[in-house]
Amino acid sequence: MDSNSLREEYLNIVATVREHVSEQLEFGFLEAEINESEPEYQYADLDLPALNADAQSCVKCGLHAERNSVVFGVGNPNADLMFVGEAPGADEDKQGEPFVGRAGKLLTDIIKAMHYTREDVYIANLLKCRPPGNRNPAPDEVETCSPYLLRQIALIQPKVIVALGSFAAKTLLETKTGITALRGNFQKFALAKQSENPPVIMPTYHPAYLLRNPNAKREVWEDMQQVMELLKGN
Ligand code: URA
Repeated sequence: MDSNSLREEYLNIVATVREHVSEQLEFGFLEAEINESEPEYQYADLDLPALNADAQSCVKCGLHAERNSVVFGVGNPNADLMFVGEAPGADEDKQGEPFVGRAGKLLTDIIKAMHYTREDVYIANLLKCRPPGNRNPAPDEVETCSPYLLRQIALIQPKVIVALGSFAAKTLLETKTGITALRGNFQKFALAKQSENPPVIMPTYHPAYLLRNPNAKREVWEDMQQVMELLKGN
């Protein structure tokens, strides 16, 4: 056999194997290979304390320059219920803990009204560092920081995540749909590749929005009642 025929035969074999594997994947007989560069799989070798330690020294985006604290998250590492906000504000940046300012006090009241304490649940943000002047998170900051949140979720394995406001909801659901349309309905977690029992997401209004629009508290309470009902049945 000359070298051209050999090469042709080799290419035929490769094509056949490739076709076979893609059929197997299509029919679910093979697990898709884990691509460690995907955000869902970053930090896959870190447990919660190691992830926190990594975040504390993070300089992957510009927000590190002006921060006082990296606000990683607090609460029960085995929580069934997790709250995810947008980013630390001035109070959180000072104290190193999420949701401790005015909006945080309202969130704490909501948690209490659900018959939980802050220690029962887990509270984190999409961004771990404060955007200066409390501006909105920039797309590159969300992209760089969200792998920390995804790893937190994969480790904590909550049953329900309450996504507070549009940035948390849009990121976790990989959607451009606004919070008003999303809230009030359990949604599928779009980025659940690491988990066998993925959490469901309840998007709702951010507590800071409630401070400006107290009438919307009723809708948030309706959303939280759905969450309580679902967790009661688990
Ligand atoms: N707003 C947030 O989204 N997170 C906090 O921690 C505080 C205010």
